[in-house]
Amino acid sequence: MKKYVHKCGSCTVCCVDLHIRDKSYADAFGEKPPGVPCTKLKAHASSHGMCTVWDSDEKPSVCRDFSCGYMDYEGFGRLAPGFRPDRSGIVFYSAFVEEYGMAPIILLELKMGALQTSVGNTISLMCSEYSAKNRVLVVTRTAEDDGHSERVLSGPRRVVATAEMNRRLYLLKGSQKS
Ligand code: SF4
Ligand code: SF4
Repeated sequence: MKKYVHKCGSCTVCCVDLHIRDKSYADAFGEKPPGVPCTKLKAHASSHGMCTVWDSDEKPSVCRDFSCGYMDYEGFGRLAPGFRPDRSGIVFYSAFVEEYGMAPIILLELKMGALQTSVGNTISLMCSEYSAKNRVLVVTRTAEDDGHSERVLSGPRRVVATAEMNRRLYLLKGSQKS
């Protein structure tokens, strides 16, 4: 079982804001558009353990594999409370992309301008450094243009590259706002 360095508290970003585009989720619970709470989220979420299927076999693999940077990226250490996604306006997470056989870090700006704040700059820098050290891809999506652009910050050359690769990553990412 994962050991988390934080609790979610009242944050519900990954279960509300994200667009979950994954077969394991769709097969279990159907569509999960961005901004719509997952039907398995407790109605009055105010503490850790908000997911009603957290410890059950019902929990889809996409949720099992989701690695929230604020919660548990070991390399990032214990981040200050202001880095929590509902406060910072940025969620950064890792999700496995089968076609690439790897889990890129996805950096998603939920509130316009959040990436330009000092917390946003710190998160971008941390992700870049983590990427360089661990040879994983970092993909950024901004709220500025409704989340439809993305930039590759850094990563191994063989993976980063082409517009076609970016287009396919855009289509393939397991969970993101659109
Ligand atoms: S985005 Fe991170 S901190 Fe927020 S609810 Fe999800 S796992 Fe918890
Ligand atoms: S199943 Fe649980 S962890 Fe997954 S989106 Fe729903 S509430 Fe969140």
